[in-house]
Amino acid sequence: MKTIYVTQPALPPLEEFIPYLEKIWESHILTNNGQFHQQLEKKLCEYLGVNYISLFANGTLALITALQALKITGEVITTPFSFVASTHCLHWNGIKPVFCDIENNQFTIDPEKIEALITPATTAILPVHVYGNPCDHEKIKKIAETNKLKLIYDAAHAFGVKKDDISICNWGDLSILSFHATKVFNTFEGGAIICHDAEMKQHIDDLKNFGFHDEVTVVAPGINAKMNEVQAAMGLLQLKYINRSIEKRKLISEFYQEELYATPGITCMKIAENIDYNFSYFPVLIDCHKLMKSRDEVYEKLKAQGIFTRRYFYPLISNYAPYAGLETANKENLKIANDIAEKVLCLPIYPDLEISSVKKVCKIIKA
Ligand SMILES: *Cc1c(COP(=O)(O)O)cnc(C)c1O
Repeated sequence: MKTIYVTQPALPPLEEFIPYLEKIWESHILTNNGQFHQQLEKKLCEYLGVNYISLFANGTLALITALQALKITGEVITTPFSFVASTHCLHWNGIKPVFCDIENNQFTIDPEKIEALITPATTAILPVHVYGNPCDHEKIKKIAETNKLKLIYDAAHAFGVKKDDISICNWGDLSILSFHATKVFNTFEGGAIICHDAEMKQHIDDLKNFGFHDEVTVVAPGINAKMNEVQAAMGLLQLKYINRSIEKRKLISEFYQEELYATPGITCMKIAENIDYNFSYFPVLIDCHKLMKSRDEVYEKLKAQGIFTRRYFYPLISNYAPYAGLETANKENLKIANDIAEKVLCLPIYPDLEISSVKKVCKIIKA
């Protein structure tokens, strides 16, 4: 039986990667802003349509450093419906996470519920473009401005996503990307911070290199979060194939949509009209129905046939032990997030997934 996982990293042809490695061996420059690092920053700014980007060893270190760069303290309002690193980065900065519920269709933070959570200790909002769905930026931005809060987007799922032709990575004070193996664009591991001016980029670059501004000046207690040359070379090569990858994801997504939209008990996620989407995930909601088993039964049935779907994002971050004791982690405060977490199932989607496999997944679900 062929095993199908929820995702599989996109890899370029190996022979095209060798010349990059040869150049690294020739130069003996393995890290610290080498030639490939510099080239990748430039190429990503062009591809994404952003002005300043700083590359990182991974997305989690980028999140942690972003909070340091803006000197965020006290309390930060965030979503529990995300990968656990979204909240861990707050904890690693000594910040108290405050969980806000999500909205029903896009699963992003509900702007209507943010203001009630603001206290004198609140310094920032950290929303997540979950599954690459853009948050309601207009409303969130207004709340941030009115209350003098910083706005940091976890855009780990949003590589290449545009709204009205503009990259959503331009939103907020800072946006964070992840280039982990499981993401739409990967550099093995990797990440980035996107910012709006040269001064902030310099500060972020200093912070990711122990706080060194030059050989003899340390401007802050920085960390080592630099992307190395092998990662950056991988990124340059991946960029060559990224449009093709997203196109293949789109075909798979359309196939699922076509097969499943009319299936009783199954709800597919709707992408808003003015969005260029990256097809990073294919989540469906499974309602208990007279014809339909519970989400977990469907998950187990698929698993028994070698298809490993994922219940992203179950459990909610607010239900994990380190956070479950927080006032805002209670289920009354997070009704929609708890409801969605019980129903959601992410189906396999990646560029090399064969349509015959997609058909098989749909057939089992329908049965
Ligand atoms: C993957 C991910 C991260 C962490 O990124 P890494 O590169 O794996 O450290 C953070 N937030 C979200 C929403 C993610 O999906």
